[in-house]
Amino acid sequence: MPIKNKRLSEEQYTHNFSEIHPPFENKEAALVEATRCLFCYDAPCIKGCPTRINIPKFIKQITTGNIQGSAHTIFISNIFGGGCSRVCPVEKLCEGNCVYNLLEEKPIEIARLQRWATDKIINNKTRVFERKPSIGKKVAIVGAGPAGLSCAHVLSREGVDVTVFEKESKGGGLMTFGIAAYKVTPEFCAAEVDFITSIGGIEIKYNSELGKNITLEELQKNYDAVYLGIGVGLANKLNIPGEELEGVVDAIKFIYDIRTNSLANIPVGNKVAVIGMGMTAIDAATQSKRLGADEVTMIYRRSESEKNCTQVELDIALLDGCKMQWLASPKEIIGENGKVKLLVCDVMKLGLPDHTGKPAPTPTGETIRLEVDMVIKATGQSPFVDLVNTYGLENIKGKISVKNKSQTNINGVYAGGDAVNGGKEVVDAVQAGKDGASAILSFLSDS
Ligand code: SF4
Repeated sequence: MPIKNKRLSEEQYTHNFSEIHPPFENKEAALVEATRCLFCYDAPCIKGCPTRINIPKFIKQITTGNIQGSAHTIFISNIFGGGCSRVCPVEKLCEGNCVYNLLEEKPIEIARLQRWATDKIINNKTRVFERKPSIGKKVAIVGAGPAGLSCAHVLSREGVDVTVFEKESKGGGLMTFGIAAYKVTPEFCAAEVDFITSIGGIEIKYNSELGKNITLEELQKNYDAVYLGIGVGLANKLNIPGEELEGVVDAIKFIYDIRTNSLANIPVGNKVAVIGMGMTAIDAATQSKRLGADEVTMIYRRSESEKNCTQVELDIALLDGCKMQWLASPKEIIGENGKVKLLVCDVMKLGLPDHTGKPAPTPTGETIRLEVDMVIKATGQSPFVDLVNTYGLENIKGKISVKNKSQTNINGVYAGGDAVNGGKEVVDAVQAGKDGASAILSFLSDS
């Protein structure tokens, strides 16, 4: 059962990785959907959006043909509004809160409408924002992901000169490197970063990594304030025997490779086990199947009721033919000639709630054995513990501690996004970047 690349034809790769949520075909289709909106007075859809986009307003602007105004309404709250319209789990955010759900009717397709308005502006490179004149202040941002660039855009709008230090050779962070390729394309991610920086006053220095090419002390010395949007690192270890075998891979690295290589170059097994049931696990499982794996089994130690992904995401995996193994926890990976051959799992039962509020899984004493040649680890990501400790940043197990949403224990140093929350949605990182910018603007005005 070899792990190998080039399992499919070019046509099959293209078909399997084409966009899962296509845009409206034409203006009429967008208008029909927009005019369904009830423009609710206390719009619950807004409360479902972490960046509080004024959804009825932007939908109303679509109905009146004011696409630029509609895009402005979206971008003023969420500069990643184009990307978020593709990758947000809207079924638990804006669309999940639409009043139509209470009427047992299909909710407004908010994400698709948002894409309709924002794509036009990004594709046409329309200028939506004007930067205020420079106020003579400089801010360094580490990380050109959603938190960093959201912070950068707000600061630049207010006339702050921003330099972003990014360890990769492209911007976009999680949006560019960490999400299934059939949700958002690399071309769109590049266009979105260009759109964000087109306001001016934002310079991105690529291949610049905190702790390698730059230090926090240098940034503190050369800039008026620093924002850390450094994200989180690789997948958590399983800490079970056999984890070092060839064929055990990290979901983050697997998805990163898919996002940065030709699909035909990505090796995948015949029989793949994915450990975890969050969005990254779903993305790893579905993409394994779409790369040509015969069998993909997702392993989760609790039951379906406690899954971390949404039902929509689970349905995507099921439709792709992935199998679910509920109430199973990896115990050992057995190899042959240094390669993965078997995954042994404890069969679990659920007890009283643990510290997470979910029922605690405990082994029943029974085990199951799955014949596999690839194991993908997707049970959460590890923060950069050593890095934050090196700089004396207060943290809890590597997650940077902040007060007032973004202020670290070091004066003039702010942080947000996954580096603080340990890994949430892109849209949460965008809001964290806005919060950071707001705190930095107050700090700059006082200093
Ligand atoms: Fe429109 Fe639904 Fe929001 Fe009401 S809750 S304003 S119907 S999108």
